[in-house]
Amino acid sequence: MKFNLTTKIVIGLILGAIVGLGLNLFAKDIFDVLDPYLFSPLGKIFLNLISMLVVPIVFFSIVLGAAGLGDPKMLGRIGLKTVIYFLFTTSIAITIGLALANILDPGLVEGIDKTQAEGYKAEGEAPPISETLMNIIPKNPITAMTEGNMLQIIAFSIFIGLGLTVLGEKTKGIYKLVEQGNDLMMYLVGLVMKFAPYGTFGLIASAIGSQGFSALKSMGLYFSVVLLALIIHAIVTYGGTIMFLAKKSPIWFFKNFAPAMSVAFSTSSSNATLPISMEVAQKKLKVPEPVSSFVQPLGATINMDGTAIMQGVATVFIAQVYGVDLSMGELVTVVLTAVLASIGTAGVPGVGLILLAMVLSSVNLPVEGIGLILGIDRILDMARTSINISGDAACAVYVAETEKKRRIKDQRGESI
Ligand code: ASP
Repeated sequence: MKFNLTTKIVIGLILGAIVGLGLNLFAKDIFDVLDPYLFSPLGKIFLNLISMLVVPIVFFSIVLGAAGLGDPKMLGRIGLKTVIYFLFTTSIAITIGLALANILDPGLVEGIDKTQAEGYKAEGEAPPISETLMNIIPKNPITAMTEGNMLQIIAFSIFIGLGLTVLGEKTKGIYKLVEQGNDLMMYLVGLVMKFAPYGTFGLIASAIGSQGFSALKSMGLYFSVVLLALIIHAIVTYGGTIMFLAKKSPIWFFKNFAPAMSVAFSTSSSNATLPISMEVAQKKLKVPEPVSSFVQPLGATINMDGTAIMQGVATVFIAQVYGVDLSMGELVTVVLTAVLASIGTAGVPGVGLILLAMVLSSVNLPVEGIGLILGIDRILDMARTSINISGDAACAVYVAETEKKRRIKDQRGESI
């Protein structure tokens, strides 16, 4: 039997979940023996393979994208449209999370053990927004690349792209080189994708096998509220974007984007999934390369709607467990802090919890409350990462369609 790649990835995902859960429930000792030699290495190899491509792909494709758009005015317009879309949808996302949690009260369930929270210490810190904005321009582009600082790499690449456009003929050689570099990277993505079903299997088996679902018992309602909010956001916000702004079918969108969503689900990292989500958007959703290569890397860094939803639900949940009532003003503070904090932190596994620490302290809730949700966060991270990258792709489709219309209108205008 021959399966296409999407089917193979989904099979890898489901098999991984079954094997992981089965071993966790019935043969934890066997899991402990197998994991370091089988599941973890499969997952790690895949994760390294795709992470290896992220920095060169972002660099080559954004240089080409900026050069390909040609006109700096167009770059400015697309940039503005993208950033406004991202900020707006992230605000909707966190509002859905807050509203749903306030209606379903996941923190008022009996049996939540507050002692789990003792001793939790926030790891790392999200930088303040003013610092992020100032740091967008890299002092040293090579350092930005070795550190994988996405916003700085994007800024540097845009400068190079603009330079290539202005210098034209003079830098034709470099342009050609970047073009070939980009082709080479895209070829490598295709190659690495062949390993995706096995990598997905390993990642999921390892995550579910080590976590199991035991943490779910008292946290079941919190878990369900986050999932429900993610689904509502995907259907309403992205479905709406595709249907009303891009005038396309949401089913077409989700069906074609599914392989990238599966990889995001297994890796829990928008950044690592970037090469794949860009390829899927360009090949299957037919987003032109310059748009995809500008919108999606930017989105992987500044647009995390799934993460925002978790923060909304978690804030209300923790407030309820600790018996704190949040006022309307505090809820607005939560929305603003979550949206701004997400700009400066890249999409990597678990970063949502760092952002959550910032949100909780903005309304004086105990940061150690995060200890309560830690046990099931790994699994929710997978789900919200799929939503995070879908938001970037929905925006890419929307920008591509509106730009296409604009071009057609302009051409008509010219020929009259
Ligand atoms: N893992 C998420 C991402 O990479 C971020 C998070 O919610 O922790 O998009």
